[in-house]
Amino acid sequence: MSMIVWDDSPALDVFERILELKKLRNAFILAHNFQSPEIQFVADYVGDALSLSMQAAKVEQPVIVVCGPDFMVENTKILAPDKTVLYANEFARCPMAAMITPKELRALKKVYSDAGVVGYINTSALSKCEMDICCTSSNAVKVIKSLSAQEIIFVPDQNLGFYVKNLVPEKSLILWPGFCSVHQRIRKEDILELSRAHPAAKILVHPECTPEVVELADTVLSTDGIKKYTADPQTQEFIIATEVEVVNTLSDNYPDKMFYPIEKASCQTQKKIKLGHVLEALEEMGPEVNLSDEIIQRAKCPLDRMLAVGRGD
Ligand code: SF4
Repeated sequence: MSMIVWDDSPALDVFERILELKKLRNAFILAHNFQSPEIQFVADYVGDALSLSMQAAKVEQPVIVVCGPDFMVENTKILAPDKTVLYANEFARCPMAAMITPKELRALKKVYSDAGVVGYINTSALSKCEMDICCTSSNAVKVIKSLSAQEIIFVPDQNLGFYVKNLVPEKSLILWPGFCSVHQRIRKEDILELSRAHPAAKILVHPECTPEVVELADTVLSTDGIKKYTADPQTQEFIIATEVEVVNTLSDNYPDKMFYPIEKASCQTQKKIKLGHVLEALEEMGPEVNLSDEIIQRAKCPLDRMLAVGRGD
C-alpha cells in the first residue's frame, strides 16, 4: 500500500485528513462507547462490545480500524477474517483481559471437567480458544441460561459473575477473581452521596461494578442498555455508574436531561487512543492484527454461539 503525501495546508486539519483517508483506503472505523468524543466523531459505528461484534461481522469495506482495547481488535479479526483489521493503538491493552490466560483456563477445565466454559468477551483470542461460549454484559444471563451444563466456569470478571449467579441460582458458577479496575473503583459511598444530592435520579449500574454497588441499582445494564433506557421521556435524572465517557454521550443526546457521572471511573486503556493514532493507522495501514487461521477458527466458535444468543437487554 502506497504512502499518502499530504498537502500541509492548515485547512486540512486532522479530522479532515482522517475522513479523507478513510474514503481513500475504503476503511470503516469502529469505536467503543468509552472512546473520547473526537474518536467517536470520526467513527462509522460506536457501540458496546456486543454491538461492535455484531457490526464487525457485517462491515463491507475491506479495511477496519478498531478504536478499542486489544481484545476488541482481535474479536473484529475473528469475526471478519477476510478484512484487514488495524489497531488504532496496539498498546491499549485491557488489564482485565490479561487476568486470565489460556493455561489457567485449561487448568480450571481439568479440575471441573464436566463444567461448561463461559468467557467474557473481554478476553484474548487465545483464551477464547478454550471456551464453549462468550458473553458480554448485555447477554451474560441469557447465555448462562442457554447452556445445558449445570456447572459453569465463568471467567474472568468476578463481579459480572456474582451478578449472573444471583439471577440464575439454578446453575453453579465457578468464578475467577478477575475484575475491571474502572468499575471496581466505583464505591457504594459514591452512589449514596450522589443519590442524597439527587433523590429523584434513577441509579443505572453496569454489572462489572461490585455487588454492593449493584445492590443500589434501580436497573443493571450494559452501556448500550443504558443508552436505550435513558431515552425514556418519563425520567429526567440519572446516576450513571459506568465509565464516565458514557455520560458525555448521554448529555449530548439528551441535553434537557440530567446525568450524574462517577468522575473517577475513567478507563485509561481506552483513552490511550488518540486521533493521531487513527490517522497513523490509516496512513501506514498498520499495525495489523495477525492471528493464525487455526486460532481464528477456534476462537470464532464461542463468539458465533454468543451472537446466536443475541442481546439480553
Ligand atoms: S473499562 Fe475495564 S474492561 Fe473495559 S477496557 Fe477499560 S479496564 Fe478493560
